[in-house]
Amino acid sequence: MSLLADLQTALPIAAKPFDAAELRSGLVIVDAVNGFATVGAGYLAPPEPNDQVIRMVGESERLARLFLKRGQPVAAFLDTHEPGKAEPPYPPHCEKGTGEENLVPALSWLESEKGVALIRKDCINGFIGSFDLETGRNRIVDWVNAHRLEAIVVTGICTDICVMDFVLTALSARNHGMMPCLKDIVVYTDGCATYDLPMAATRILGLPPTACHPQSETHHVGLYLMASRGAWLADSIG
Ligand SMILES: [Zn+2]
Repeated sequence: MSLLADLQTALPIAAKPFDAAELRSGLVIVDAVNGFATVGAGYLAPPEPNDQVIRMVGESERLARLFLKRGQPVAAFLDTHEPGKAEPPYPPHCEKGTGEENLVPALSWLESEKGVALIRKDCINGFIGSFDLETGRNRIVDWVNAHRLEAIVVTGICTDICVMDFVLTALSARNHGMMPCLKDIVVYTDGCATYDLPMAATRILGLPPTACHPQSETHHVGLYLMASRGAWLADSIG
């Protein structure tokens, strides 16, 4: 039996369809930037074409077109760092001016689209990165409240890192009453992806075994943890 099959037995997840047309819904795309999702675009980009990442980009694009066509708002987080300012424990990535910090080619049309909020952030957690340190305001909270959203649908990369940290914090913020209209935080399973660093690759790269990050398993664990905190896992978005 494979580890993934064991995980599915020990930490089961159950996804169900979500009808985004029924509620005031918005789409949040997390970090679909070149530095994470375009082959060879940087230290943290896929070294070769990866099916899960390709699916994440395709499904994010499809949903962005669907939401905008219906007049539903879209927000996109873009991981963006000042050159030379580290984000431990990661190697340099998505530094301003490298192009890594911009949306992947399939989504770059969002930059000039009305109804799209682009939110640059310099840390894993998009909720934290949305705070303006001078005013104390939070851009993603303001966006949810300005549109009086009842649901947000989340896609992007990485399932168990930037997507998960945002979703878990947003669930707490919702329960704390920061977004009064918000009912559901929906994670679209096929719209999310994570990176693949199998044990064999960590050895070849001279990394410690703890850097190992097998894609299917870590994607599953990310989905499991978000569902266990109250996120709605969706296998289709209507
Ligand atoms: Zn970063």
